[in-house]
Amino acid sequence: DQPLSEVDPDVARAIEDELGRQRSTLEMIASENFAPRAVLEAQGSVLTNKYAEGYPGRRYYGGCEYVDVVENLARDRACALFGADHANVQPHSGAQANTAVMAALMQPGDTLMGLSLAHGGHLTHGMKINVSGKLYNIAAYEVDPESYRIDMDRVREQALAARPAVIVAGWSAYSRQLDFAAFRAIADEVGAKLWVDMAHFAGLVAAGLHPNPVPHAHVTTSTVHKTLAGPRSGVILCEADLKKKIDSAVFPGQQGGPLMHAIAAKAVAFKIAASEEFAQRQQRTIEGAQILAERLNSPDLAEHGVSVLTGGTDVHLALVDLRNSELDGKQAEDLLHQAGITVNRNAVPWDPRPPMTTSGLRIGTPALATRGFGAQEFTEVADIIAEALKPGADISSLRSRVDALTAQFPLYPGLEEW
Ligand code: PLP
Repeated sequence: DQPLSEVDPDVARAIEDELGRQRSTLEMIASENFAPRAVLEAQGSVLTNKYAEGYPGRRYYGGCEYVDVVENLARDRACALFGADHANVQPHSGAQANTAVMAALMQPGDTLMGLSLAHGGHLTHGMKINVSGKLYNIAAYEVDPESYRIDMDRVREQALAARPAVIVAGWSAYSRQLDFAAFRAIADEVGAKLWVDMAHFAGLVAAGLHPNPVPHAHVTTSTVHKTLAGPRSGVILCEADLKKKIDSAVFPGQQGGPLMHAIAAKAVAFKIAASEEFAQRQQRTIEGAQILAERLNSPDLAEHGVSVLTGGTDVHLALVDLRNSELDGKQAEDLLHQAGITVNRNAVPWDPRPPMTTSGLRIGTPALATRGFGAQEFTEVADIIAEALKPGADISSLRSRVDALTAQFPLYPGLEEW
């Protein structure tokens, strides 16, 4: 029963260094967050020892009485949070949740319509070398070349021509709300199932700050670790009549034993997501993204070819367009890294630069909102980023401004003593 630091000092040191990195930088990767202590505790618990193939009340292993309690809590809370008939909380990740949904709703060779990866879709929505693109026929839709928004008339036209079995609405890099009712009407018109992947914006939905796709979709998937701030994992919500198909597509369709420690952490995350504190945090998340988008779309940056796609945001992220800037996405990401701000470069629609370089940045506010940032701090962060993207920026003075913010909002205070 030796501690990690004695059994494996190399791994212990890397974990310690990672904590130091998270504490000393500003985390603005839109898909990341800081899981609260209660979630970390559940994930680090003895539930990791338990095999529980099957579902609560119908397991293939003995000794499942306590993990059944945990899985039922997670399922019930997920259903209550999003108003769903049924929840499957076993997917190990968002990608596995998505793969299970496709297996439940389609046969190989059927047509899936999803937002193109190059226009903000996720790789599980039909990328060529992902299982989705290999097994299914893909009819990708794109954003409108003028507005950079999804144009529902074009989606309808394409659906009428492609006759998909499934339409997926959801994104990894898009800054506006989707019209779920319009997606459902199109799905009904062409006889398709509507699947919504709300991985990115589920936290905003839980807080009532974004339209809820669940009443419109046949099936909704999500990750639990982005705006929801839970453990890295996935969840599937569906209508009652799809329960059997979805459950058997997850297990035994593509997974063995569920990760009961992760499911416990999901239960905790769903409980927290129903709280007033969580709703306020999502409010600060959106407000922060709007402050950021406004600052990065201002004339002093336009002068240097920097702007924001769609001119703003309704969600937790802003997409910076660098197509007219001398800086490419990789250079901008590196400059911000030097200033102590972590973001990811991201292709913009019709990006002229290659995927490893790109002409865009995706910048998100969930992790900083969790850290406690409000409008005042987001205004300062937005200005630091704006200054960093101008030619000849004084990166070391920007780094000092970042240091002041990280010092003001300590992350995981006292974690070493837990
Ligand atoms: N769906 C969307 C829309 C995502 O953005 C992501 C993650 O980036 C996923 C699914 C996949 O989640 P995971 O990384 O847990 O497999």
